[in-house]
Amino acid sequence: MKLVFATANPGKVREAAEILGPGFEIITAAEAGITEDIPETGNSFRANSLQKAEYIYERTGLDCFADDSGLEVDILGGAPGIHTARYCGVAHDSAGNMAKLLAEMARMEAEASSMRALGISTPHATRKARFRTSVTLIIGGEKHFFDGVMEGSIARERRGDGGFGYDPVFIPEGMTQTNGELGEAFKNTISHRGKALRAMAAFLHEREH
Ligand code: IMP
Repeated sequence: MKLVFATANPGKVREAAEILGPGFEIITAAEAGITEDIPETGNSFRANSLQKAEYIYERTGLDCFADDSGLEVDILGGAPGIHTARYCGVAHDSAGNMAKLLAEMARMEAEASSMRALGISTPHATRKARFRTSVTLIIGGEKHFFDGVMEGSIARERRGDGGFGYDPVFIPEGMTQTNGELGEAFKNTISHRGKALRAMAAFLHEREH
């Protein structure tokens, strides 16, 4: 079965092909003739993954899927959320994004501690965070959604340079190392995207039989 993956990221295509296994051919949007940037203007991960999958389906009529992910940090009220990729103002500037994240968290922690010093009670500062992914699959014109979450916390400084994006500052729950130190192969076994793609793979395998 052939599926178009609405991404230009070859790493994501490799990961999806590995998870789906033999019997599935994954091609990129460009290989399906869509070379322009696919719009992403929704206000949730699901709205964005749906928008990207519909964009491909409406133009090619091919079975396809799209993903959208981001990071939610508790002390920042769920930010950067859907703005994760361009948190520092420049798309996919990982060093800038991580620097802004650490600075914003330090600012919130300092604010909480000065309030406590004034005797104002504030909730205990936490560094808890999670990555979320929403995958939309359009098959035979029908839409199906698969979500994945990776819980964890944000380190106080960057550690390790494996993976991509915010991996050097994200510590998965139950671990002491960051994703940057743990490496991509391990992360894929526990990641938000891995979980959502494995749920989609289980659905597709079931549907095939
Ligand atoms: P996308 O929608 O999957 O492209 O993800 C949006 C942004 O979230 C990316 O540009 C990364 O900065 C960040 N991100 C998503 N997944 C991960 C991950 O597994 N590790 C680190 N950063 C990630």
